[in-house]
Amino acid sequence: MQFLLDNAKCAKLLTEFIEKNPTASKEDFDRYAVSTGLISQPKVAQKFIDQLQIERKRVSKVKQEIKRQAKRGKEEEIVFSWISKTGKKPKGKLELNLNYPLAIILYIEDSEDFSAVMKNVGGFYQNEQNYNQNDGTYDSFPIIVVKGCFDNSGMEEEHDERVANKLYHEVGHARNQSVIDTLKVAKRKTVWSRLNDSDHGSITKGMKISESVRRLKSKKWLDLEEARKSEDWNIVLDAALFSAKDELLAEFEVKWFDVSGHKNFLKKRKGIYDYFLNKFGIDPKSELYEMIWQDYENIIEAANKVLVKIQEGYKLGNFILREKIKIFRWVLIQIPIQDWQKQMEETLFFEEIKELQELSKFFREEIYTEENSGKKKSKKILLASKFEEELRAKPDNEPLLPMIREFKHDIAELGK
Ligand SMILES: [Zn+2]
Repeated sequence: MQFLLDNAKCAKLLTEFIEKNPTASKEDFDRYAVSTGLISQPKVAQKFIDQLQIERKRVSKVKQEIKRQAKRGKEEEIVFSWISKTGKKPKGKLELNLNYPLAIILYIEDSEDFSAVMKNVGGFYQNEQNYNQNDGTYDSFPIIVVKGCFDNSGMEEEHDERVANKLYHEVGHARNQSVIDTLKVAKRKTVWSRLNDSDHGSITKGMKISESVRRLKSKKWLDLEEARKSEDWNIVLDAALFSAKDELLAEFEVKWFDVSGHKNFLKKRKGIYDYFLNKFGIDPKSELYEMIWQDYENIIEAANKVLVKIQEGYKLGNFILREKIKIFRWVLIQIPIQDWQKQMEETLFFEEIKELQELSKFFREEIYTEENSGKKKSKKILLASKFEEELRAKPDNEPLLPMIREFKHDIAELGK
């Protein structure tokens, strides 16, 4: 538990550090990392710092290219021309933000302009967007595109909130990416998904997946049990879950209290997140499609249940341990989505939630019932407020179980 929490806090702080200090040097980073005192895996932390800097370098490189080419047009139009699939000039307003260190951010107001770039969605994050450099060669950069601009008139608050939510969701993807890339190269206890790039030997992951898709499609499947034993099945399922996890955790960035809306999008067959159809071209009328969807759907549902348990578990009567809930985005990032449930149990997070809820309920009931009067009750009230105070003061990377058990002990002493 402590190990996962420390990694979580470390990744969170380092990401926030680069976001707040886009020009920080490598030395600044190292110094900051040491000062947090949280590094349980120094090699992984170092790789993570390197990864954040690689992303920042890619962003500053493309920024220079934008500035160079801007002599021949507006900066935002140059970026638009790189991502547009139609080659048409934009009709509406574009806005460019070059200050985010992990991606270039482009806002596109007009729907038609946006659909020249991407179909159907409110925004996207692309880690490898190609662009042509002045010398005729190609390179790639990370980009966030948001449908809608901030309304400068400030008249419509809700509009701006919608744009901000889309932005934070995509920032969530950008934040995930650094972790994904780090876990790819680090020899680690923690992983993003069950199948990792390093497991594939010399051929790339993408090639391995498309071979598996091809073999799966060509075979006649008798039943689910048989299919589940096949390596191809697990490779394809895992590839879809890789992206589903990315989606759920990006949404958690915005809606840390409830991601079920996004979960339902993910579960929509033939929807924009139907990876089996859109990415792998599996025929929606085939048996394979139906079977693999069943497995996939169950895993997404179970994963969402884990999120709900966390979101509800740290809500206590009259207050919410908000930072505690939010840190779980960074805890779960280290665990394949299929294993969330099991690992949350094994690492005692669910035990913590259970005991926390019990204790909190006990205090509430004791305080509000009439029967318990007198000295004993007032002692319990004191204990209850002490408990709440200590909970609020606890850093979000510290397990709560020891503290909960101490209070339980104190209560038991009172009863004697
Ligand atoms: Zn997304």
